[in-house]
Parts: sequence; structure tokens; C-alpha cells
Amino acid sequence: MSDADARFSRLIAFAKQLYPGEAFIPLHAPVFRGNEKAYLVDCIDSTFVSSVGAYVDRFEQMMRDITGAPYAIATVNGTAALHLALMLAGVGDDDEVITQPLSFVATCNAISYERAHPVFVDVDRDTLSLSPDALAHFLRDHAERRDGGTYNRTTGRRIAAVVPMHTFGIPGRIEALAALCDEWGLVLVEDAAESLGATVGDRHTGRFGRVGAFSLNGNKIVTSGGGGCVITDDPVLGAKAKHLSTTSKRPHKWDFFHEEVAYNYRLPNVNAALACAQLEQLDTFLADKRATADQYRAFCAGEGLSFLDQLPGTASNFWLNAIVLEDRAARDRFLEQSNAAGVMTRPVWILMHRLPAFERCFRGPLDNAEWLEDRVVNIPSSVRP
Ligand SMILES: *Cc1c(COP(=O)(O)O)cnc(C)c1O
Repeated sequence: MSDADARFSRLIAFAKQLYPGEAFIPLHAPVFRGNEKAYLVDCIDSTFVSSVGAYVDRFEQMMRDITGAPYAIATVNGTAALHLALMLAGVGDDDEVITQPLSFVATCNAISYERAHPVFVDVDRDTLSLSPDALAHFLRDHAERRDGGTYNRTTGRRIAAVVPMHTFGIPGRIEALAALCDEWGLVLVEDAAESLGATVGDRHTGRFGRVGAFSLNGNKIVTSGGGGCVITDDPVLGAKAKHLSTTSKRPHKWDFFHEEVAYNYRLPNVNAALACAQLEQLDTFLADKRATADQYRAFCAGEGLSFLDQLPGTASNFWLNAIVLEDRAARDRFLEQSNAAGVMTRPVWILMHRLPAFERCFRGPLDNAEWLEDRVVNIPSSVRP
């Protein structure tokens, strides 16, 4: 066995120690050890299992308390939250939206729902989030301000918004991105789907732009089965998000008057019940994940492995831990070795500009994203038993 493979074996053994007694260690499994069952039973007993109910209101209040945002609107999933966020940002037909190629496909899908075009700009190697340097270069090379908007000189299209994503819960350089958006008159929308509980300074991720979107999918730090949430500081946008996500129905005792074409993006109360019970445990989960990350960090330091870490002044939620290997061959060997040993590991997503739907999208140089694509591997990160 080569030195590298021996090191991989020790990492696999280390993961087995962190999650003892499991025949197969998943990357991320949900943990239900709070009020989940009690709230679900209560919800069913109330008969309010569907699109209105006390748990939806409670979930939204909890999201306001956790994020500090004055407005939080529940949605059926994170993709719907992102779609709403882009509508609130004023993204529309034939606009361009700058985002990162290294993300889950939902970011690009949501942009496409508005008949807008994703434009790919590179990420930073240390955060895996949109790079302010790359964005500054891109705008200098391609953007011009005219007629009260910002336009891509090459394509002639309006650039409407910038959507960075806090990959694996590691906060990106969001303040620098926000400053660039201000300078260029672009709306900042944060895809905070993976970063619930993660902060920059004392501000929660999702609160640096005009709108932020969260996901409570089954694999995220807390789950409601499926679910999401939009947050904003703007009362007008908050009201609009609620309206658009609830079929734009004018409140009335019996009349069904709908003001415009809108969406049924409501979170069912039964999912909200699960969400409330999970959010009550968020602080415990965060502490547990921080402890797991501390252990991986120390192990990786001892082995000369590169562990993806938070930047100073930021707090990751350590949703999914990740290591960066020397090259694609090493990555593939580690993926083989670990998965064969019952320890689930996974490479990062295939980059968006390689997918048929997005391969023709305009883009800047993507050297860091392509470098990371060959090297990043997620390692088991569930809350521990
Ligand atoms: C999970 C996720 C979403 C939203 O996903 P849903 O499954 O629709 O809740 C969006 N963007 C990113 C980056 C995600 O990881």
C-alpha cells in the first residue's frame, strides 16, 4: 500500500471512530431526538396538516429569531425559496444572473425559471464560494453601466443580480461581494441553502443582500422533510414573497380573488411541525458539528491532509466537512477505498457549465472551480449519536 493509500485508510478508520457501530456511515443523515414526534402528532390531531397552520407561523418566527431578519417566509423547498428570491430581486426575461459553477443545480434552475441566463464566475479555492476578485475582474472586463442598468457588453443583456452560495455551510467573502454589487448596481441574492446557522461577524448568512434563501431538505443541517425559507429586511419584499408563494390570493372570508399569476409554494403545516422541532435543536447540532470539524481538522493537520475550513471572523455551520486531495487520481482512489469500506464519501457536484442545460452559458475563467472539481471530497458529517 502506498503512503497516500495508508493515509486514506487511517482517515476511513477515523471516520468509523467518529460514528461507531454503524455498518454503513452515510455522508449526512438526519437526527430526530427532540419534539419531532410530539409536534407531528399534535399537528395531525389538529387536522391542520396542509397549507395553513400554527406551525407555519411558528417556523417563520423561529427563522426570524435565528437569522435576525425581520421577514421570513416559509416555502415548500429551497428551490422555491430561490425562485421567489429571484423574482423579488426583479430578475426577468432574458436577464443575466451571475452565479458560481460550483453549486447544486437548484441555483441555476431557479434562474432559468425566470427565463434568465446563469453567467458563471469563478469561486475562491479556500471557501468554494463566489470569488470577489473574480467578480471584480469579470465586471471590469464585461460590464458597463448605462440607462440605469448594468449590461454585459458582449451579450448585450442586462445583468440583474449576483447569487453566491455558501458552499457546505462555509461562509464566502460576502461583504466584499456585497460591496461590488453596490458599486455596480447589482442586486445581491444569497443562496444560503446550506448555511443555516453560519455567520459572518455577528450577522447570519442570507442577510447581506436583498434576499436570502434557505433549504430544509432531508440532507441539510435541519430538515422538515422538504422545506425552505426566504428572508429579507424589506417589508415590501416580505409581503410580496408571502403573496406570490400563496397564489396571490386577496385575503377574504370566502372569495377566491387572485391578483396575478402566482405559485403554490406554501410549506405544509405538517412539514413546519417537523421544522420547528428541528430548529429547537439547531444550537445543539451546531455544537456537535463544530466538535466533529475540530476532530477532522486535527486529524488532517497530523496527516498533512487539506481540510476545508472557515475563514477568520466567520463561523461555518460545518454542515458537510470536506478535504482537498492532490489530484483527480487521488480523489478517485479515496472515493473507491472509502465507499468500499462502508464510509460514504462524495466528490463535489459536476460543474454547472458541463451540464447540457447550462453548457452554453456565458462565463469567465473558471480555473479554481475546475481545480476544486478534481480534488474536493465530502466526508461523513452527520450529527453524532
Ligand atoms: C439544497 C440546496 C438548494 C435547495 O434545494 P431543495 O432541495 O429544493 O430544498 C439550493 N441550493 C443549494 C446550493 C442547495 O444545496
